[in-house]
Amino acid sequence: MQDHAATTSTPDLDVLVIGAGISGIHAAYQLRNELPSLQFEVAEAHHSFGGTWLIHTYPGVRSDTEVYTLGYSFKPWTGAPYAGAAEIHAYLGAVIAEHDLERSFTYNTIVEAASWSTADQFWTVSLRDTVTNEVRTTTARFIWSCHGYYTHAAGHTPQWLGLEDYAGTLIHPQAWPERLDLSNQTVAVIGSGATMATLVPAIADQCASVTVVQRSPAYFFQSENRDPLADQLRELGIDETWIHEIIRRKAVKDMAAMTSVQFNHPELSKAGLIKMVADQLPEGYDVETHFTPRHFPHEQRVARILNGDLFRAISNGSVTMVTDEIATFTPTGLVTEGGTVVDADVVITATGFDLSVLGGVAFTVDGQAVNVANSVTWRGVLFTGLPNVAWTFGALRLSWTMRAEMVNHLITRLLSTMEGRGATSVAAVLRPEDAGMQRQPFIDPAQFNPGYAQRAGALMPKGGTAAEWQMDLDYWHEVTVLPDVDFTDGCLQFTSQS
Ligand SMILES: Cc1cc2nc3c(=O)[nH]c(=O)nc-3n(C[C@H](O)[C@H](O)[C@H](O)COP(=O)(O)OP(=O)(O)OC[C@H]3O[C@@H](n4cnc5c(N)ncnc54)[C@H](O)[C@@H]3O)c2cc1C
Repeated sequence: MQDHAATTSTPDLDVLVIGAGISGIHAAYQLRNELPSLQFEVAEAHHSFGGTWLIHTYPGVRSDTEVYTLGYSFKPWTGAPYAGAAEIHAYLGAVIAEHDLERSFTYNTIVEAASWSTADQFWTVSLRDTVTNEVRTTTARFIWSCHGYYTHAAGHTPQWLGLEDYAGTLIHPQAWPERLDLSNQTVAVIGSGATMATLVPAIADQCASVTVVQRSPAYFFQSENRDPLADQLRELGIDETWIHEIIRRKAVKDMAAMTSVQFNHPELSKAGLIKMVADQLPEGYDVETHFTPRHFPHEQRVARILNGDLFRAISNGSVTMVTDEIATFTPTGLVTEGGTVVDADVVITATGFDLSVLGGVAFTVDGQAVNVANSVTWRGVLFTGLPNVAWTFGALRLSWTMRAEMVNHLITRLLSTMEGRGATSVAAVLRPEDAGMQRQPFIDPAQFNPGYAQRAGALMPKGGTAAEWQMDLDYWHEVTVLPDVDFTDGCLQFTSQS
């Protein structure tokens, strides 16, 4: 740990948190409970808290991992393991109320730009009110970015040929219209992931027909929406706090076992998942075309089907699968490369997200614009060239919150260390031995390669070959390192006001 001296004045805030989703609410919880002397504000672009679980309102929207681990370690989840957005939003609301966090949240506020002054040792931040469009300025010592990983402004819609000619209704699930009557409509849903898999069974009954158009198939895991162990513990009258902790530990262990099989026996794991799907479909169904992915299970999230609902809808003929590239849109629908014509009154593009790099904030340091793509991440948390900025990036192989909480504890410890030393800034700085280090993608594509990461990899900060400069995708390894990570490993430079 190196120390430098600088002269500073006092900023308005010690910490500005960006975003009031699962990560930002946890950051506020940490600040309130662990660092009560720090002044902080949570700026949130939407009109309320919840992030993902506020904005997604499409039929069937629910968690894909159980909420014992998507929820927080300190607040028991007492419902069915997989829950709808409204239930998760209510759970987050209870956390906010129980810990009196609401007063620190400022809604309808987008953090647009942040300018660091080395002389002042703080950020000057521009915040735009989305209702009045007015821009105000605040100053903050530290920016804690809990903006998630995808941009909320709009979902990802590929620019297909002829799209502008399509005369029907085009919808992205991220912006589901408040009043949409799909009864007796012919509907095409484009996409193959968790959104498609939860949306389609929820609308299949009311539509005249639903056609799923996917470029390539995905993997699905099928289960009931219950946890027998949790049920049994409840029957035994065990305290909910205990049940929560036990089911969390079980979920983490089960996922470790599944991930290990996926990595060590990719063909076996592939075959097992495909058989699980085939068993749910009628004899002779073309599983090879529609449910045999080209990638291995460990490379992308495996989506979960509850109680076989998607497969039932396919089996009873209300949902048809088309696996092919889209050649062009037409005024009445679309045509695939193989010549399949799909006419649809409504086309739903369940085609994913655009990655958000540090909340889209335009950063400058001492007057120089920062291109975040040129920076190198310290453990997926801090970034070279961006003093006093941290990003809470969650887990990808198990619930996001498992890593988000771990990272938030690290950031809390970092802030506490700074407070203890009277440090006014911390910067990730490559050590002499890192000088020639080869750059790697932030998310290693050999480990995990969902579409949003492939599309936006070039815009993301980079990793390096040394462990200190990587976003570790292996939670089970990281959990043995990150909680006690040494701030004196030479990668962090602390500056103290004189
Ligand atoms: C439909 C859907 C289902 C999912 N299901 C699961 C699941 O089952 N399990 C799982 O682990 N993960 C799931 N995820 C991933 C999910 O996003 C994370 O689990 C988690 O909700 C992320 O929380 P977050 O707070 O980090 O980010 P988000 O929920 O994305 O919230 C970020 C917040 O930051 C705000 N923000 C961003 N930039 C700015 C800015 N510049 N200024 C002000 N505010 C800003 C946004 O408005 C938003 O409210 C799902 C995602 C989607 C879309």
